[in-house]
Amino acid sequence: MEGEVYLSENDLVKAAAYVGLEPAAFERKHCIRTASQLRLRKPPGRQCYFHKDNCCSIHPAKPTQCRAFPYWPELLESETAWAEAAAYCPGMNQGELVNIQEAQAISAEMKVAYPEMYEKVSESL
Ligand code: SF4
Repeated sequence: MEGEVYLSENDLVKAAAYVGLEPAAFERKHCIRTASQLRLRKPPGRQCYFHKDNCCSIHPAKPTQCRAFPYWPELLESETAWAEAAAYCPGMNQGELVNIQEAQAISAEMKVAYPEMYEKVSESL
């Protein structure tokens, strides 16, 4: 899977604390800030600096986007998008069923964490 990993300001503070850095130092080392978004810098040839030994090395403090997957609004709201994501994610559609209210609550966290992203999506509909 390719893509960007976006962070909320709260994600930045939590991830920085987890690796023992001040938020500003974490941002300088690991992030790219644009006018409206903050995202993780990608190391050459890899998707994420924190993906180590087939695991997330900052799992307890990983960004909202990572924690909420696959209950992203754009996946919960589209059967087609859900099926496309499930085609590359072997963990989707496996295991215990998740209560829809629980999935929607996680999805709502995405809209709070990344308002610019979801305001643009709703404006374009
Ligand atoms: S879950 Fe961890 S390793 Fe995976 S993209 Fe997110 S921060 Fe990186």
